[in-house]
Amino acid sequence: KDKQRNCGKEALVKLLRWNFGHPDFRGNQLEVIQAVLSGRDCFCLMPTGGGKSMCYQIPALAKTGIVLVISPLIALMENQVTALKEKGIAADFLSSTQTSQLKNKIHEDLDSGQPTIRLLYVTPELIATSGFMSRLKRIHGRGLLNLIAVDEAHCISSWGHDFRPSYRKLSSLRNHLQDVPILALTATAVPKVQKDVIDSLNLQNPLVLKSSFNRSNIYYEVRYKDLLDDTYADLCDVLKSAGDVCAIVYCLERTTCDDLSTHLSKNGISCAAYHAGLNNKLRSSVLDDWLCSKLQVVVATVAFGMGIDRKDVRIVCHFNIPKSMEAFYQESGRAGRDQLPSRSLLYYGVDDRKRMEFILSIAENKKSQSSNSQQGSSKKSMSDFNLMVEYCEGYGCRRKKILESFGEQVSASLCKKSCDACKHPNLVTKYLEELTAAIAVRQRHGFSKILMSSSTDAIENERFSEFWNRDDEASGSEEDISDSEDGFEVAKSVSRSKFSKTSGINEKMELLQRAEENYYQNKTHDKKANKYDKNA
Ligand code: ADP
Repeated sequence: KDKQRNCGKEALVKLLRWNFGHPDFRGNQLEVIQAVLSGRDCFCLMPTGGGKSMCYQIPALAKTGIVLVISPLIALMENQVTALKEKGIAADFLSSTQTSQLKNKIHEDLDSGQPTIRLLYVTPELIATSGFMSRLKRIHGRGLLNLIAVDEAHCISSWGHDFRPSYRKLSSLRNHLQDVPILALTATAVPKVQKDVIDSLNLQNPLVLKSSFNRSNIYYEVRYKDLLDDTYADLCDVLKSAGDVCAIVYCLERTTCDDLSTHLSKNGISCAAYHAGLNNKLRSSVLDDWLCSKLQVVVATVAFGMGIDRKDVRIVCHFNIPKSMEAFYQESGRAGRDQLPSRSLLYYGVDDRKRMEFILSIAENKKSQSSNSQQGSSKKSMSDFNLMVEYCEGYGCRRKKILESFGEQVSASLCKKSCDACKHPNLVTKYLEELTAAIAVRQRHGFSKILMSSSTDAIENERFSEFWNRDDEASGSEEDISDSEDGFEVAKSVSRSKFSKTSGINEKMELLQRAEENYYQNKTHDKKANKYDKNA
């Protein structure tokens, strides 16, 4: 009777309005809530900002008893529990960071037979402990465990971008607590991951509900490092002209975070770096300052990730290409969770692409050495990355590319001109043509970027950075280096002003080719002269 009374749409909408102030359910929320309240397992795929939390928070209010929420991050649990408590909802969490006094208090409540807690957040590690599992069984024995919600459920899958070994322990849930409905929630749309989640959690005949992954409030844009004079300055302009907005800039490496953050700070932007190389205290103070708007921009590695509970992020910038479409979607998806217009800006550079290919190939080698079963997964990383490259280097709507990579068939009209390729098709085509030319030239010598540098100093710096990058990667053969030197010499021989005044790409290519031919003619001539000298 209790079930029927609370499962009806009207009663559930009342709970939603009363407790959270939202007028109605969004997307698949109602279906998910009704399914789990009726005792059915459910797999819920919803993009970031879609409102996944409501899918287990409303059931917690609809029935007497407890909803257990498994969440990967303590910070994420803390945020949600605080927000719920502010609304007068009895929520709590158990984690290693709490005092034993506090933990004991929660344990007492859970063991009381009439717990006051409605939502209990825990980490996956806790589930694996026998003490906690026995406690859960006792609660279940009294008919008080209504639902187990596994948030960020893709962490259970090694096919996903965010695999966490501790999530594997959740496989035992179904055996121990057979008739408690399990709700798996994720924003990761890769079909293989979805299947893996359903299998690993042993969901029984689950209701599978998938929402579209279109984030219509995000404008997608790519800018090309190889065609920009100064990417740092460009980003600085973007952030300044956006005004005092909240932003995240993702970089591949810690040193880039530090350098970029210093550069932006010097230019009057309120920002700080965040990465695993900083101590915990500094990291949490950066996070706190950013969360309470003391800081405008965080320049971070992917360590700044899941569970960042700020809804009004207006810009997510990728200063380096991410390793997969999935990672890109998750990270860029942190923009605009309040549904207001927001921006995803990716700076694409051919060097970055090569660097990532190198990193992935190293990972591939390591994995194939360690076990045969992983080979497929490492090949997959390369093909995942190729989708990302296609997003940057390919023609056509960016949004369509994102959605198609997740298996959604869409037409470009869905974009409504909210990506650069749909809004400024001619301009993007021109950039892509220039990029193709730059790549062609670089493939021979790796000097187009040098050529475009604005001063002799910049040229010198570029030359050294080319060398260092090659050394870093331990891939710089003698031949590579001499190629690069040749490129540098050719570049020096072309006047920069002449190059920039030359308008068409074909003309630019011709100019380069002529310079190149001259250079090699002279070089051969010098060699012959040398030989002659020696012989003499
Ligand atoms: P997710 O976990 O899917 O990223 P959240 O659960 O954090 O998303 O919800 C994102 C935002 O959407 C929150 O600000 C939340 O209050 C809001 N929200 C959720 N459900 C609704 C709804 N039915 N109507 C309006 N806003 C909603």
